[in-house]
Amino acid sequence: MATGGLLQIPLENDTSRKIIHVDMDAFYASIEEREHPEFRNQPLIIARNPSDTGGKGVVTTANYVARKFGVHSAMPAAKALALCPKAIFKRPDFTLYRSVSEQVHEIFHRFTDIIEYVSLDEAYLDVTVNKMKQNSAAQLAKMIQQAIFEVTHLTSSTGISYNKFLAKMASDYRKPAGCTVIMPEQALTFLGDLPIEKFHGVGKKTVPKLNDMAIYTGRDLQQIPEMQLIQRFGKMGFQLYRHAHGVDTRPVEYQRERKSIGKEETFGNPLGAEDQVTTELHFLARKVAANLVKLQKHGKTVVLKVRNRNFETTTKRLTSSEYVLDETTIYADAQQLWDEIGDLSEGVRLLGITVTNLDPIGFEELRLPLF
Ligand SMILES: [Mg+2]
Repeated sequence: MATGGLLQIPLENDTSRKIIHVDMDAFYASIEEREHPEFRNQPLIIARNPSDTGGKGVVTTANYVARKFGVHSAMPAAKALALCPKAIFKRPDFTLYRSVSEQVHEIFHRFTDIIEYVSLDEAYLDVTVNKMKQNSAAQLAKMIQQAIFEVTHLTSSTGISYNKFLAKMASDYRKPAGCTVIMPEQALTFLGDLPIEKFHGVGKKTVPKLNDMAIYTGRDLQQIPEMQLIQRFGKMGFQLYRHAHGVDTRPVEYQRERKSIGKEETFGNPLGAEDQVTTELHFLARKVAANLVKLQKHGKTVVLKVRNRNFETTTKRLTSSEYVLDETTIYADAQQLWDEIGDLSEGVRLLGITVTNLDPIGFEELRLPLF
């Protein structure tokens, strides 16, 4: 097939998968409205009040009332205040948001284990084969939304299609509480009708470049030969061409989440003194803390493992309400556990510290110290 003098290889399109993109509606703001009924129907912005921070800070989420004033995520809080002077500013509570997110994740696992978590409020689920033995992905999506609402009293929007790109576009299409299906035979029309700035992955800087090429809609984009897009945009052009034609082969990347991170040490000469144990616990805590940071995880439970000269092993765990991440806290917890179970009479042949109940550290939380 020749188009514009360039040879085009027909795209291969796999339409056999069933992917659901679930996106919680204004997640953090909706949680705060649930917790504080007095916030409802008021413009609510999840950010520290810029008048308390000397104008610093960024909007994490805004509820739908505030969005009507033009407020949106990632906007400077000071600008949001200018747009909407009557807005309520609520400092984010990520511990709460994460616990709600965990409830939602548990619901997902009733349906499938092939889940890719994009953020605390967004995930892709591959339900081609699912635990409900349900053929209709749209039916599954509605069941998921229903279950999320029953458990959390929060609404979500879902998009259903045969690949991640289309599922994402579909969940964006109608919010809140939307459920949009794009069937394979509808994909080209759905994408054709979309303004180009709605394409996931087309950023603010790309829109004017596309407009310069007289591309304003998905349909305009569908007319452009692949080589032309690649010449103009490189790798992104390759991607754009595929997306415009409803092709996205990326799998739902479900990683078996690491449930724990630990480090242990065996001693050829069993330890026989408290200060030796303390030194080792400091060392192990430092190693574990470094690994947590490297893997961007934190956990709530510290486990101490002690083995003596007779190969008798004892473990004890300590669970906190707050996440532990830093060396000092991990050491303090381990030392407390040692004080409870430690016994030097038979020597210490092995010591281990493990942090379990792990969760990813939220992007927003990492930015908090900068506010
Ligand atoms: Mg969302």
